[in-house]
Amino acid sequence: MDKISSDIKQPRIPVEINDIQVNFCKNPLCQNYGVPASTESQVKLHKSQKDCYKLSSGSRKPVTKLICKSCNELFPVKSNQGIWDELQRIEEYLKETPEVSCPDNSCKNNLISIKLGKEFYQSFGKTKSGSSRYRCKSCKKTFSVKQSTTGQKQPHKNNLIFKLLMNKSPLRRICEVADVGMATVMQKLIFCINSA
Ligand SMILES: [Zn+2]
Ligand SMILES: [Zn+2]
Repeated sequence: MDKISSDIKQPRIPVEINDIQVNFCKNPLCQNYGVPASTESQVKLHKSQKDCYKLSSGSRKPVTKLICKSCNELFPVKSNQGIWDELQRIEEYLKETPEVSCPDNSCKNNLISIKLGKEFYQSFGKTKSGSSRYRCKSCKKTFSVKQSTTGQKQPHKNNLIFKLLMNKSPLRRICEVADVGMATVMQKLIFCINSA
């Protein structure tokens, strides 16, 4: 993912990406819930300076799990970059035009929207202009979906929604504050739950 890091000391846990840091205790009843683990090595720190987490594999890399010292909850270390990428992907997905189907009139998928998913279509990368490409599973033809919103990403909204979700804001409030629909918030919420 990050090719410039080879000569730089590896952080203890993945560093924050675009204000996203998901490596904290996932136990809602714990005082450390939502308190991110430190990215700095804890080895030389005095006891009072250490954060509230232990690494399950000592100081050996790659680190896979963190243990909360308060509640002993064990949770896998997640890539913030991966989460960010996934949020971007969801955003893209939500922008897709709903009524696109296989353009071949003689194909039985001709009237079946790509929204119906994997059973009928396979995601097939992107065109040079950034439009999503699909392959029809029936006739094997590929086609792309022109998106009027391609290139108009709103990453600041992702950050905002993610933060509001992490702060347990009511969903209606999130819609208001981020100026998005409930469907958008739900998608991101489902993703957050799955990745927690
Ligand atoms: Zn905890
Ligand atoms: Zn087809």
